[in-house]
Amino acid sequence: MNFAFDYDGCANADVPTFIDVISTLQKAGHKVFIVTMRYPSECRQVIEDFSGLVDGIIPTSRKAKRAGCESLGLKIDVWLDDNPRAIEEHGMQIWGMETPEGTIHAVDHATGDVCESQVVPLTDFSELMVPVLEVLQDPAAA
Ligand SMILES: [Mg+2]
Repeated sequence: MNFAFDYDGCANADVPTFIDVISTLQKAGHKVFIVTMRYPSECRQVIEDFSGLVDGIIPTSRKAKRAGCESLGLKIDVWLDDNPRAIEEHGMQIWGMETPEGTIHAVDHATGDVCESQVVPLTDFSELMVPVLEVLQDPAAA
């Protein structure tokens, strides 16, 4: 199966535990992707946390995640997301607004507060797409 884990408020909330879960799933023969509504330029920390550990990091640029994956030819079987609406809806539908590229919008689950933070832009995207393209060349993953 292909698993998709959200990043903000999900995989980044407990990176060591998610690394263990990812490893367990991969050892059982599954593929695991980080699928985030971040823009590619906002994925520096995602790469630092999970590059080389997942089968791909897919930023959908505030677009609905399922459509974003399917546009790459990737069918996800199991989703894990702290905002399940993000699988089918784009950011404007969910929040009534979209933060500009470079500003991350996430919910602090401890307080319920919505947090916005700025990211240092990423300029080398090679670690984002190359693993995904390699996985997509494997017919068993499609
Ligand atoms: Mg999230």
